Amino acid sequence: MIHLKDINKTYQGAQPLHVLKGISLDIAKGEFVSIMGASGSGKSTLLNILGILDNYDSGSYELAGTPIWNLSERKAAEYRNKMIGFIFQSFNLISFKTAVENVELPLFYQGVSRKKRHQMAMEYLDKLGLADWAEHYPNELSGGQKQRVAIARALITRPQIILADEPTGALDSKTSVEVMQLLKKLNQEDGMTIVVVTHESGVANETNKIVHIKDGVIGQIEENLDHNASPFGSGGLMK
Ligand code: ADP
Ligand code: MG
Repeated sequence: MIHLKDINKTYQGAQPLHVLKGISLDIAKGEFVSIMGASGSGKSTLLNILGILDNYDSGSYELAGTPIWNLSERKAAEYRNKMIGFIFQSFNLISFKTAVENVELPLFYQGVSRKKRHQMAMEYLDKLGLADWAEHYPNELSGGQKQRVAIARALITRPQIILADEPTGALDSKTSVEVMQLLKKLNQEDGMTIVVVTHESGVANETNKIVHIKDGVIGQIEENLDHNASPFGSGGLMK
């Protein structure tokens, strides 16, 4: 699914900062991977490159067989919309839109009709246990509910991969566990490929593979054998 080879990234400025130093990483379809490292180690930069939100300086990146290099903003947006679902620490919901309107938004950009997108958004909210909250605004929802709305929004385009940047960073520990269980279910029952960036080992331990990153370099890659994934079972969120 993801094939990264020798990726380098430097932020230019008065003091150029070499943030990613030769990152090579392969992530197969159906994997549930965490990228773990201290603050400032380059995790978000790496995830932004994976998500075609940012460019890299050298190396190569292939996503689902498509080489990602020097894309026009329009092409990048098209691939993002088609292939990737994003989840962020701060949820990134639009405050003046209701839960269901937030979930509908990616379909709006795809030109799906109002009726169809409303119906699909309600379906996903229902799957995430939020049907009763559809007409509420983000500031009326708990942190866990907001993140579930954001997950519904990420899923609605049926992406090939979910990229999550510190998805539990703004949540209490109990809610964090619930969100990680939800992602785990999505991986196990729907076979969704998921990459979670985190600085918390508790979060990383919920995934099947932990990729350690330090100062822009990948160190140890741990297989997390505690998890007996039963991929492609029935009753998943995407069905
Ligand atoms: P992490 O997500 O692991 O905390 P980041 O990828 O956000 O790390 O940042 C890595 C380093 O790059 C940090 O030192 C950060 O300050 C710097 N950095 C991040 N984004 C930018 C940017 N747009 N311009 C300049 N420096 C940046
Ligand atoms: Mg970060």
